[in-house]
Amino acid sequence: PDRLIDGERAPEDAGETSLRPQTLDDFTGQQAVRRNLKVFIEAARGRGEALDHVLLFGPPGLGKTTLAQIVARELGVNFRATSGPVIAKAGDLAALLTNLGPRDVLFIDEIHRLNPAVEEVLYPAMEDFQLDLIIGEGPSARSIRIDLPPFTLVAATTRSGLITRPLRERFGIPLRLEFYSPEELTGIVRRGARLLDLDLAEDGAAEIARRARGTPRVAGRLLRRVRDFAAVAGSGRVDAGIADAALTRLDIDRRGLDAMDRRYLACIAENYGGGPVGAETLGAALGEQRDVIEEVIEPYLMQQGLLQRTPRGRVLSASGWRYLGLTPSAVAAA
Ligand code: ADP
Repeated sequence: PDRLIDGERAPEDAGETSLRPQTLDDFTGQQAVRRNLKVFIEAARGRGEALDHVLLFGPPGLGKTTLAQIVARELGVNFRATSGPVIAKAGDLAALLTNLGPRDVLFIDEIHRLNPAVEEVLYPAMEDFQLDLIIGEGPSARSIRIDLPPFTLVAATTRSGLITRPLRERFGIPLRLEFYSPEELTGIVRRGARLLDLDLAEDGAAEIARRARGTPRVAGRLLRRVRDFAAVAGSGRVDAGIADAALTRLDIDRRGLDAMDRRYLACIAENYGGGPVGAETLGAALGEQRDVIEEVIEPYLMQQGLLQRTPRGRVLSASGWRYLGLTPSAVAAA
């Protein structure tokens, strides 16, 4: 990606599949989510029924796809994956659903980008395991009904606000993923190093974790970059010194913020007196898409307490000002 710390999946992350945890026990963090899933999975297995539909909310890179795969594995069923924008027509969805076996898991990433016509067809499929399709056009059009095997839809979204209410209400198990703590990320980085056969000192793991934006995908990416750096510059062993040198060189600061984050914060401070300012305006000022602002940049800045979202727009917090080394009055005077 353009940004190393963007949680969105990128081509360079192809290698990350080897780092994917395979079981719920192997999955670090998200305790409440894991505990819930465990109970529901066990109950569904015990009854020999399909698991209720699961909706996963949370910023990119927190483990939604990984969890969906784990759910299928723990249920002992097949896993099929697709994403909202890929399902263009009702027929595409029908093809997917009619190919499922009993109790299989269908994963739909970015469900908030589903075409409304497709969403309509999804409702009865989720609720009654029935597909109502219109075949043909004009006077010869007729509707047919197809029975589906009971299945589990696991859907993921980065934008809970964009899910329509009728869709949201059809998920029996809604789960929200949170950013990971530095301790949890340290564990994830250590595990990654083990799988990559990398010599990682404890302080090196902590340094990478602290700067990974609370996001496992970013942690994996930073680990691979630091590994390259260590191989070229040092003995190959990654300690805090090497990690710091590598990440500083990649322009990722002590808190995991990069140049784009700093530009974003500075823009609110310097151009809008600290806010409030709307996302659309900020996007235009920064030459960045609104989606990226809202899904990738802002969630972490808010979690860090640097930024607040208010009904009137984005506002820099007191720690946001402190982070920039500015005061509101100094900006106003300038
Ligand atoms: P999302 O679907 O939310 O964008 P993914 O499930 O694709 O995120 O996860 C991104 C990467 O981060 C995965 O390849 C996986 O290796 C790693 N990952 C995610 N969650 C965890 C976790 N809890 N423990 C270890 N690694 C994780």
